[in-house]
This record gives sequence, C-alpha cells and structure tokens, in this order.
Amino acid sequence: MLEVKDLKVAYGGIEAVRGISFDVPEGQIVTLIGSNGAGKSSTLRSIVGLEKPKAGSIKFQDMDLIGMGTETIVTKGITLVPEGRRVFVNLSVLENLKMGAYMRKDNIEEDLNWVYDLFPRLKERSWQAAGTLSGGEQQMLAIARALMCKPKLIMMDEPSLGLAPIIVQGVFDIIREINKQGVTILLVEQNANMALNAAHLGYVMETGRITMSGPGKELAANEEIKAAYLGKA
Ligand code: ATP
Repeated sequence: MLEVKDLKVAYGGIEAVRGISFDVPEGQIVTLIGSNGAGKSSTLRSIVGLEKPKAGSIKFQDMDLIGMGTETIVTKGITLVPEGRRVFVNLSVLENLKMGAYMRKDNIEEDLNWVYDLFPRLKERSWQAAGTLSGGEQQMLAIARALMCKPKLIMMDEPSLGLAPIIVQGVFDIIREINKQGVTILLVEQNANMALNAAHLGYVMETGRITMSGPGKELAANEEIKAAYLGKA
C-alpha cells in the first residue's frame, strides 16, 4: 500500500534519514522502532509532505506522493497523529472531532458515531474542553480526530509517550481494534516491546538507517533487539 524507497531527509548538512526503504502492506500494523533521533518522525513527516525529502520515492497505492501538498495527501487517505497529541485545547471534544473532518463535504454523522463507538469516553465528554482531558484521553482524541478524515492509512508518532502503563495498554488495544476494522497502521514507537508485539511487521531504525526488519513478534524475541531496546520497555 505504501512503498518507501531510498528515502533521504536532511536538515542543512545533517542527514536525519540516510536512504531507507520499507513497505506497509494493506491491512497490516507496521512499526518503526528506534531510539531518540533515529529519524522516525522525519520519515513520517516526509510521507505526509511536511518535509521535502532530499532523495528517494514514496508511493501510496501507486501514486507518487513526493511534491504533493499535505492537504492533497490527506484527501488520498493518509493521516498523521503527531507526537505530543496536539489537540485544540480550547475547543470541545466534539469541535476537535469536527476539525478532523474539515476537508470533507459529505455527511460526517456516520463517522462521528463510529469514533464515539470506538471511544465511549469521548462521547461522554463531548462538550468538555479538550485541554481539561487527561493525557490518555487527549491521545484518544488525537487518534479519533485523525479517524474523522476516514484514512486508509493512519500513522501515529509515539502514541504511548508520557502515558502510564495501564493507559498505554488501552492505546494499543484501540490500535488493534482500528486495524481490525480495516485501517492500515504505521506506528512509530520507542516503546519497542508493545509496538513489536502488536505489529505484523517491524523495522528497526538507527541513526537514519534501517538495520533490521521482520515479523513483529520475531523481532520482539530477537536477543540483539532485546538487549538494545527491550530492557527499558
Ligand atoms: P524522537 O523519537 O526523539 O522524536 P526520531 O527518531 O523521531 O526521534 P527525528 O525527530 O526524525 O528522530 O530526528 C532525526 C534527527 O534530525 C535528529 O538529529 C534531529 O535533531 C534532527 N531534526 C529533526 N527535525 C529537525 C529540524 N526541523 N531541523 C533540524 N534538525 C532536525
């Protein structure tokens, strides 16, 4: 569904992504793990057109995404839940969800019901200002808002960051559920253990390069990966 080939992203003279290639097959959960500064966010940002790659190609359902604007990319079916759950703090939950659907002209009621079914807590708190939600609820709202664009592929940048373990479990449960309902997922995580166990396919990224890849559960059981990434997870 998504094919990234020889992607390079540089900031000034610094190469953050040094020629990576990976695939996200339709219907799967794929994770990109790696420590701070490995280039994971830069990769996601280039897929949605927020960074201009120095080289390489990004294809989504055989469309070339490089050079396309972010809004066009979203209308093609890709959305990004950015790191740090940037919800509109002064707007209500419902207003935030409507903002997610702002580019659509069709009836959003059906999707609103869909996300409220997925996130009953958000339904209960429909009128609450997003800024007064707990961290976990804000992360759920950020995911729900992205779903309002009706994406075929949803990309999430560190959805578990800064959340208590029990809440992280809830976030991963919802990731699995969204995937079961047919949405393909590309997940960037430092929480390697949870991410690899949830993913069909995993890629390990180190200083701008992909150093290992394979089925998520196989990588989670790999001794080298355990030593490097799973000790603290
Ligand atoms: P983290 O998990 O800490 O977000 P990451 O794997 O997502 O890490 P990136 O955020 O992609 O990594 O960063 C990769 C490298 O690129 C880092 O060295 C970072 O400092 C640098 N970088 C990222 N964004 C910019 C920018 N806008 N300008 C300059 N350098 C940047």
